[in-house]
Amino acid sequence: MAIVKTEGLKKTYGKGDLAVEALKGVDLAIEEGEMVSIIGKSGSGKSTLLHLLGALDRPSEGTVFIAGESIDDKSDEELSHLRRRQVGFVFQSFNLLPEYTVSDNILMPLILDGQTADPDHFSRIVDLLDIRGKLKYYPDELSGGQVQRVAIARALITKPAIILADEPTGNLDEKTGNDVMELLGRLNRELNQTTIIVTHDLSIARRADRIIRIRDGRVDPSPLPEAGNE
Ligand code: ADP
Ligand code: MG
Repeated sequence: MAIVKTEGLKKTYGKGDLAVEALKGVDLAIEEGEMVSIIGKSGSGKSTLLHLLGALDRPSEGTVFIAGESIDDKSDEELSHLRRRQVGFVFQSFNLLPEYTVSDNILMPLILDGQTADPDHFSRIVDLLDIRGKLKYYPDELSGGQVQRVAIARALITKPAIILADEPTGNLDEKTGNDVMELLGRLNRELNQTTIIVTHDLSIARRADRIIRIRDGRVDPSPLPEAGNE
């Protein structure tokens, strides 16, 4: 079963002369356990698409199905509930809370939702991300790569159906960025974690099982250049 699916997805920002058609009809399906990259130039509509896939925003036309449920007939409250339970977001800027420890930052989505952590799950992701030694530290005591790993742990803590990452390596140097991709790949394999990564960087995109290219608000089905010839 597709864990995320879109049908005729369109998004227009603004009205009249100022209207920007960011998405012009996107149909895609992502299967459970897949690791998929969405690649495209700046302004092609990648972030808009990712926001719609994560129910952060509503489409102008068309629909999104998350874990089999259409978001169309959901209230804002139901959508925020769906988001909290089913979607883990990882952004380019990591958005950790500076006054909380690493451990509390990871647990924050559960705390805000009045839930407690499954200790085995907490332990497993902390080890997979190699941040056990940092749990009592504060975000400003960590390197960029460590902070991003904490942000990934925070996204995973609720056992979301999908992880959505928008340019997760955008603020990291090449080596650290590659390490983060390596980790996302490991989490995808070991937890069968469905993961969708937006990037403008083809070498990052190639680390996924499948690449979806967005051009000017539509999926571009033409083949990508061979590795090394881009
Ligand atoms: P990408 O992530 O590929 O760079 P975006 O999805 O951010 O692309 O943007 C697609 C288009 O929509 C761009 O032309 C952008 O300027 C426009 N856009 C994005 N967000 C908004 C917004 N909140 N209001 C108006 N225009 C927007
Ligand atoms: Mg973007």
